[in-house]
Amino acid sequence: MKFPDVFDVIVVGGGHAGTEAALVSARAGCKTLLLSHNIETLGQMSCNPSIGGIGKGHLVKEVDALGGAMALATDIGGIQFRILNSSKGYAVRATRAQADRMLYKQAIRTMLENQPNLWLFQQAVDDLLVEQDKVTGVVTQLGLRFSAKTVVLTAGTFLGGLIHVGQANYQAGRAGDPPSVSLSHRLRELNLPVGRLKTGTPPRIDGRSIDYSVLQEQPGDDPVPVFSFMGNRAMHPRQMPCWITETSERTHDIIRGGLDRSPLFTGAIEGVGPRYCPSIEDKITRFSGKTSHQIFLEPEGLTTHEIYPNGISTSLPFDVQLALVRSIKGMENAHILRPGYAIEYDYFNPCGLKSSLETKAIKGLFFAGQINGTTGYEEAAAQGLLAGLNASLQVREMDAWCPRRDEAYLGVMVDDLITQGVTEPYRMFTSRAEYRLQLREDNADLRLTEIGRKLGIVDDARWQAFEIKREAIALEQQRLRSTWMSPRNLPVEEAQRVLGKNIDHEYSLHELLLRPDVNYASLMTLPGAGEATPDPWVSEQVEIQAKYQGYIDRQHAEIKSSERNEVQRLPSDLDYREVRGLSIEVQQKLNTHKPETVGQAARISGITPAAISLLLVHLKRGF
Ligand code: FAD
Repeated sequence: MKFPDVFDVIVVGGGHAGTEAALVSARAGCKTLLLSHNIETLGQMSCNPSIGGIGKGHLVKEVDALGGAMALATDIGGIQFRILNSSKGYAVRATRAQADRMLYKQAIRTMLENQPNLWLFQQAVDDLLVEQDKVTGVVTQLGLRFSAKTVVLTAGTFLGGLIHVGQANYQAGRAGDPPSVSLSHRLRELNLPVGRLKTGTPPRIDGRSIDYSVLQEQPGDDPVPVFSFMGNRAMHPRQMPCWITETSERTHDIIRGGLDRSPLFTGAIEGVGPRYCPSIEDKITRFSGKTSHQIFLEPEGLTTHEIYPNGISTSLPFDVQLALVRSIKGMENAHILRPGYAIEYDYFNPCGLKSSLETKAIKGLFFAGQINGTTGYEEAAAQGLLAGLNASLQVREMDAWCPRRDEAYLGVMVDDLITQGVTEPYRMFTSRAEYRLQLREDNADLRLTEIGRKLGIVDDARWQAFEIKREAIALEQQRLRSTWMSPRNLPVEEAQRVLGKNIDHEYSLHELLLRPDVNYASLMTLPGAGEATPDPWVSEQVEIQAKYQGYIDRQHAEIKSSERNEVQRLPSDLDYREVRGLSIEVQQKLNTHKPETVGQAARISGITPAAISLLLVHLKRGF
């Protein structure tokens, strides 16, 4: 396959952001090149072999609804699936899967290799070509030059990567991979706003050295959940359990004894780590009153004995790691296969990005994933999809797609990043979304697939499946609205059984479903209710939409009232020193952030409603 002279989109980095970016741009019909250090590590999970979780599962479903790869690869590689928060409301329920690391990576590689319009090439990128504040291509380690109309940079933890284990440290992108040093220098030269963050990973254990007989088994859910809207259970490989153990007071004593050689506590690590994934040394120091912490022993795959001990991420010296692992129940004779470590890396303050993920400083250059200060495969994949899509839209001379906060978790994440910036690694939670009642996992396709189709990134098979489902939901809702139950022909005992009491006048099935203690399945057992839909996705949607209708109507009213600010654009050349009445601090903040809309300006920390009123007056005056 001959390389084009000029690519439409070049994606640098084949992690979770890069692979989604490359796939979406190629799906959109753009000539796309994916350049990565090593073809063997495309789609590699740097840390725990699991996808999804609260907030993160929502992002994966959104990526899927837009035709992305992550959910399908998880269905192909997943060895344990669970629905978290299954006893709580639908808005906070989330899918989480344990993946076989090799099967997952293989699934991603197969998709990349079979994607039309996509070229793969193994090379490190050392330099960006920039002419008059516009990116024009990249230069690789071998000095090869590739021209492009747009570039999406997704270098993960690799830029200036520095690994720490105790007092030892060395440069690397992650264990076993080279760092990106030249590119890191080049980006600093381009005056992009750079900082340092850190993350860490636990030692890995040989499962044959673990005594499972003393551990608590944790199976997956039955029936096994499915991640992708295009997935099914037949895709799943053999399922496996996880195991639960815990640290002891002796473990904590061992850790305390090693703190004087911990890079976190000696000041050797400058970068801030993820608040919600702290190292074990951090946990026992911060929560000194706790005598034990839970640890999940998660299999890394079907064809390996390697176990990921979730909960003991550490950068303590290796001798302390070994002693702490062996102080844990079931791991008294554990053999460590790989040491745990921490890694520091460069990230770029996302306040320097537009909501399309294009850098404000350099036209055509997009950033996605860990380099924007986020942590997690799912956050990376979602940004990768958005950046790759918007790069392709720029090439196709179409407007960027920037999802709103009420439309998608993707919109919430990008808005948080660009208006608040990042001082510690950002991860997604449902609590970050003010409109979470309508941003559910279950309706990600209903929210986004039609948009994806219009943007040219949803293929025919997905579109057809979606249309069939959407129509079936509408038909069933219509049937429930037009099927009536009357006291005359509903036997009292049947009404008692399903509805808890008799009915006093005619009700449609839809009205009965609105009652809090009535569900779709039981409603369908009423005589005269007709035939239930055989499709569980359809019945689930009919039930959820009925139950949430009142809340969602209220949310829509709220969204409508804030809509004006969201669509009111701010000129990019507006000098906020000219806005009468603004304090110097507010002027400086707005001049630094250069928000794109009044809504974004209002979410920047320290920007008061009074400042927004002054801004609106200024805009009304026409400057
Ligand atoms: P990555 O997955 O890092 O992929 C970057 C890709 O870019 C790689 O393929 C690399 O080879 C390539 N690349 C980099 N520079 C160049 C270049 N110059 N030229 C060509 N190719 C290049 N997340 C969590 O949610 N929880 C955790 O506990 C957690 N712990 C982690 C621990 C460690 C040690 C590491 C390394 C990561 C951890 N993560 C964790 C983060 C998670 O791995 C990342 O969030 C996720 O992988 C980011 O995806 P990405 O696509 O941005 O980057």
